[in-house]
Amino acid sequence: MIHFDTSLEILDAVEISAFKTKKCYLMEAGGAILAEDIITDHNSPAFPTSAMDGYAIRHEDITLGRLRISSINPAGSDIQESVVAGCCIKTFTGSLMPVGSDTLIPIENVRVEGEEIVIVEPVPEGFSVRAIGENYAKGECLITKGTKIDFPQIGVMASLNIVSPLVYVKPTVAVLSTGSELLELGETQQRDAQIRSSNNYILESIVTKHGGEAMQLGCIHDDKATITQAVRDAMAKSDIVVTTGGVSVGDFDFVKDVIRELGCEVLFKGVRIKPGQHIMVARKGDKFVVGLPGFAYSSTVTALLYVVPLIKKLQAQPTTLTTVKGVLQEPFVKRAKKAEFTACNAHLEEGVYRVDFQGKKVGSSAILTNMLGEVALLMTTESDTSKSVGESVDLLLL
Ligand code: AMP
Ligand code: MG
Repeated sequence: MIHFDTSLEILDAVEISAFKTKKCYLMEAGGAILAEDIITDHNSPAFPTSAMDGYAIRHEDITLGRLRISSINPAGSDIQESVVAGCCIKTFTGSLMPVGSDTLIPIENVRVEGEEIVIVEPVPEGFSVRAIGENYAKGECLITKGTKIDFPQIGVMASLNIVSPLVYVKPTVAVLSTGSELLELGETQQRDAQIRSSNNYILESIVTKHGGEAMQLGCIHDDKATITQAVRDAMAKSDIVVTTGGVSVGDFDFVKDVIRELGCEVLFKGVRIKPGQHIMVARKGDKFVVGLPGFAYSSTVTALLYVVPLIKKLQAQPTTLTTVKGVLQEPFVKRAKKAEFTACNAHLEEGVYRVDFQGKKVGSSAILTNMLGEVALLMTTESDTSKSVGESVDLLLL
């Protein structure tokens, strides 16, 4: 079994030979990863533009104290007239500044007397004029390739008239649970030895939440031929196949052999982590197969540690796990000489994550309910020992 850090390094070093990209209508691009740099092809604004309602003037005319209103210039009109000495043009927010003017004196700073304005409160030169390129200049790279598209990117791309940006195709992640004891959602129990499957459903949910396209393939029996056929079919239809169960050392743990027999290159099998030490990650070209352990808590933790980074990897994103610091409110008992991922409550109080284990059960890796609540994973390394109240710990937020 390899060190946890080594497993992350192996994953990080994985190179994808051909990323899948597509053009996507802007309003459907939220959450996708941009696959091109967004470079402007114009200045914004393209012309000096008024930032307030008022009068376009030549600043040197302020000393005259009184100017004649020669025209009116609403937003959207292509004003031809220019501002000449002793005159001003009534101009509004968003209107182009008329030729000859350099300053916008706001309505609030003047008094209108018939066809004239009287300057009550002068303004400095260039006041309330948005310069060419104030927003962005032609040729500027505004959004870099690899950015996750959210509302600010959608707004900026709309302003650039980018109707369909190039994005990475969300990887399709096929999800499959193995185990002859498993019952699918809604299936009627026939025998006492059957248990309800949660793994394939929690995995589908994790995949969707973390930017993958989930493909639910349900549960199959511990039969080698069935598993081989199912994994082969899944690999043909998806980018990542995630299985649960059958990677341990039992007589009916066929998944680990099937993955090898299907010609996959094993990136690693067995990591010194708790839970989930039997995890297996393999690849065949740009396709990946991840064999997660069967226990519900184990498969959930290992999906977060290895499947989520692979979803990112296939969209050219960094695979690093992001942790935050927390402060222990209760002692933490280190149980194994492995990197441990312990469910805890992480309560944010005055900017500090306070960590306790209230309501968390100690037992096997089957206890999925430990994932409920204000949960985070307290992450320790294999050389860490037990920790006391007040000590700082690393948390993986969910
Ligand atoms: P395995 O890794 O196949 O030996 O599975 C270990 C244990 O995890 C099984 O005995 C089940 O109790 C449990 N388990 C396996 N698959 C699932 C599943 N899909 N959902 C919930 N629990 C499971
Ligand atoms: Mg099993």
